[in-house]
Amino acid sequence: MSNGGPSSQTILVVGGGISGVSAAIEAAEAGYDVILLESSATLGGRVAQLNRYFPKLCHPTCGLEINYQRIKKARNLRVMTMATVAAVEGGRGDYKVTVRTQPRFVNSKCTACGDCAKVAESEIPNPFNYDMDKVKAAYLPHEMAFPMRYVIDASVAGTPEGQKMKDACKVGAVDLDEKEATFDLNVGAIVWATGWRPYDAKKLTSYHYDTQANVVTNVEMERMASHDGPTHGRIVRPSDGKEAKKVALIQCAGSRDMNHLAYCSRICCLASMKHASYVRQQYADSTVDMYYIDIRAHDKLEAFYRRLKNDPQVNFVKSKPAAIVAGEGDNPVVKGENTITRELYAEPYDLVVLAVGMESSTAGYAPPVKLTQDDYGFIVPEEADEDNGMISCGVASGPLDVSMSVQSATAAALKAIQAVGGRAR
Ligand SMILES: Cc1cc2nc3c(=O)[nH]c(=O)nc-3n(C[C@H](O)[C@H](O)[C@H](O)COP(=O)(O)OP(=O)(O)OC[C@H]3O[C@@H](n4cnc5c(N)ncnc54)[C@H](O)[C@@H]3O)c2cc1C
Ligand code: SF4
Ligand code: SF4
Repeated sequence: MSNGGPSSQTILVVGGGISGVSAAIEAAEAGYDVILLESSATLGGRVAQLNRYFPKLCHPTCGLEINYQRIKKARNLRVMTMATVAAVEGGRGDYKVTVRTQPRFVNSKCTACGDCAKVAESEIPNPFNYDMDKVKAAYLPHEMAFPMRYVIDASVAGTPEGQKMKDACKVGAVDLDEKEATFDLNVGAIVWATGWRPYDAKKLTSYHYDTQANVVTNVEMERMASHDGPTHGRIVRPSDGKEAKKVALIQCAGSRDMNHLAYCSRICCLASMKHASYVRQQYADSTVDMYYIDIRAHDKLEAFYRRLKNDPQVNFVKSKPAAIVAGEGDNPVVKGENTITRELYAEPYDLVVLAVGMESSTAGYAPPVKLTQDDYGFIVPEEADEDNGMISCGVASGPLDVSMSVQSATAAALKAIQAVGGRAR
């Protein structure tokens, strides 16, 4: 910053999940120029992959859609997908940011007609469904994608199949020559809203997630329960497609464990209660056992927990299971000790859902800039650092639910505005 004022009043937001989208909209609606970078092909982040929101079990796309309408109206807000930060230099009020974009091979003329997908032969793992199924190599990221624009996978660019896709497009939207590109931006503040990833369940070796088809994670459960998920909303056993009516939910799978994530991921108890509701709503004769260390339902969400406790077909078992082993007929068997009754158990289930924790997407990876990260990789810029124009929000700063993420995003927008506005000292 020179002469006490910023050289740029533009605010950069990195990460287009609910937090980044909220921060960008708030700053733009306050009159500031904002650039929103998202590394994937669409905005929405992990929220777009949820089936329902607790506690009301409403559909997350409603909230996202309202935000997309606000983005369309904000002329001073520019969205770039398939883009991320390659380097940052400078300081508060005057950052030079190098942005790197990946080719989508489809330009803004795309009308999302789907003709390119009709001629596609290759299939790729579907990241939207956590690779539980496949999509064509020309695909719309999901039905509520923003921007509503197809993507052509890099594996078919430069092949006869890619050419067929180009020939099928009537509006000239396929650009197979698109390349990775970098360019520089001058911005006054940067909001990091890079979010989270689910903890890798394969690391929980005694639960054998990688060898038992009927042991899934909580994020996979969200996709299974979704009408546009791999099973079209049916909660079934992945091994044979049969209805999953006896289900175990394993809490703290990786969290609150010094060998994995030492902290409480805060959201997974509530997410599992939501999963119990999905199962109970789908099958009247279902039973759900929730294995827990203790239940964490923060604030007014305690009422959601109480509602579920009144259901006699949902059992709460105080125990951290020791192992999940293969049983007869592909039934995973949950083994451990009930810490209230002191009884040992070995219970077979149709389906076991691991409530894996939320890990910062910057954990174990060094962002291309010096950021203050806590012991777990969450970005926590020093409050006292007056020269810092970098702010974090949402789950990039720690495990939060959506309403807390949005609150932190609004606070981050205000701090970014202060950084570019040359706050009086
Ligand atoms: C199983 C489960 C169920 C849940 N259900 C609920 C619920 O019902 N209700 C509720 O309130 N909360 C729920 N949550 C929590 C909710 O998912 C989070 O609060 C929410 O995702 C936080 O949004 P975010 O924008 O901070 O992060 P994210 O959703 O992770 O978004 C981050 C975005 O940043 C992008 N990104 C990452 N790195 C970069 C980079 N370097 N450059 C550019 N872009 C980048 C990502 O692609 C992503 O789009 C649930 C969590 C779990 C684990
Ligand atoms: S790229 Fe062309 S063919 Fe494919 S969906 Fe877009 S407009 Fe349709
Ligand atoms: S929220 Fe519940 S399941 Fe998640 S880590 Fe905390 S106590 Fe464990």
